[in-house]
Amino acid sequence: MSKKPFVTLEQVKEIAKTYPTPFHIYDEKGIRENVKKLKEAFSWNKGFKEYFAIKATPNPFIINILKEYGCGVDCSSMTELMMAEALGFDGDDIMFSSNATPACEYEYARKLGARINLDDITHVDFLDETCGIPETICCRFNPGGYFQIANSIMDNPGDAKYGMTKEQIIEAFKMLKAKGAKKFGIHAFLASNTVTNDYYPTLAKILFELAVELKEKTGCDIRFINLSGGIGIPYKPDQEGNDIMAIGEGVRKVYEEVLTANGMGDVAIFTELGRFMLAPYGHLVTKVLHFKHTYKEYVGCDACAANLMRPAMYGAYHHITVLGKEDEPCDHKYDVTGSLCENNDKFAIDRMLPEIEIGDYLVIHDAGAHGFSMGYNYNGKLRSAELLLKEDQSVQMIRRAETPADYFATFDFTDYFKNYK
Ligand SMILES: *Cc1c(COP(=O)(O)O)cnc(C)c1O
Repeated sequence: MSKKPFVTLEQVKEIAKTYPTPFHIYDEKGIRENVKKLKEAFSWNKGFKEYFAIKATPNPFIINILKEYGCGVDCSSMTELMMAEALGFDGDDIMFSSNATPACEYEYARKLGARINLDDITHVDFLDETCGIPETICCRFNPGGYFQIANSIMDNPGDAKYGMTKEQIIEAFKMLKAKGAKKFGIHAFLASNTVTNDYYPTLAKILFELAVELKEKTGCDIRFINLSGGIGIPYKPDQEGNDIMAIGEGVRKVYEEVLTANGMGDVAIFTELGRFMLAPYGHLVTKVLHFKHTYKEYVGCDACAANLMRPAMYGAYHHITVLGKEDEPCDHKYDVTGSLCENNDKFAIDRMLPEIEIGDYLVIHDAGAHGFSMGYNYNGKLRSAELLLKEDQSVQMIRRAETPADYFATFDFTDYFKNYK
């Protein structure tokens, strides 16, 4: 099996005349079709709302597409809150799911009327002392131990810094209620990048049962349950992707069994998806500059880990297509590298690809989430442009490439770099 890029060689050659490589490009059509499907999958729940995790792809043009479909945003920092505000989100459109939160961020979130999600029981008093307890409040749960689906371990919440224990969340709800909170939510994020239709239903069961227990033990009015992020995508071409309709149906079944059966059939379901919303609809496009033969065969590109950090950071697989050679046999083995002075700057190691020539364009797939946004400036590398391939196949620049002046901007109190544009 193979992954098909949403751009052709001819398109990329044309685009590169205006926007030199490397660049990130997003597929508007794919984004729209996917968000429509998500909404459909959860249409059985009256209060359903997706809060797009801004950190995945913090670009106003992208977020505004999702906003058209009624999505809100999930923020966890000051600038993410600012982005939400600048794009006209307010109050119920914003989840603030932060941790180790500075007081000024709680103040800002409170000012915007965001739904604040407390990561720890000590934050009840911290929030109260900072800006008071709002009427609507959410707490993040961590069940500890290992998170399993059937017999396979998905992740290790007991080792994760997020969320409160069961005892703590019960106590936190009581404290919040005593301090005047009226409407409550619960949240948990127990496994990342899952490619199984069972993750959300399994998580939902844990949270729904917790909601019933919390209602019994605290008398709090639980209005929403936030399943957070974690629905993954098939980065590898032989992986089968999630079926969002099956996931929605799986959550609906547990909802009936646990919530409806306990008289809580009016609770809203929220999601905070990032990767699932955007990853497949973004490519990093890069050009081959060099070819090197030593103990291995190396392809040197004009993009590097500063443009897409996941392979270097997690050893993550990102599929690569050599544009124009989609149908040629993958009978050459390469390490595909960037130019950082860091030996982990490799988009692929021992990857079988068609024979590559200097000047070839490579599409690095599934870079639409946690791609550009994890970029950095090591080695003085500049962040690339972001482009949007519109539904009519025209291309819109949605973020310009950085210039040396951007890199030097934080020295603008000196004259050292004033001659560099
Ligand atoms: C990162 C994050 C998300 C999004 O996660 P994905 O894996 O992109 O779906 C959602 N909620 C919170 C609190 C997060 O930290």
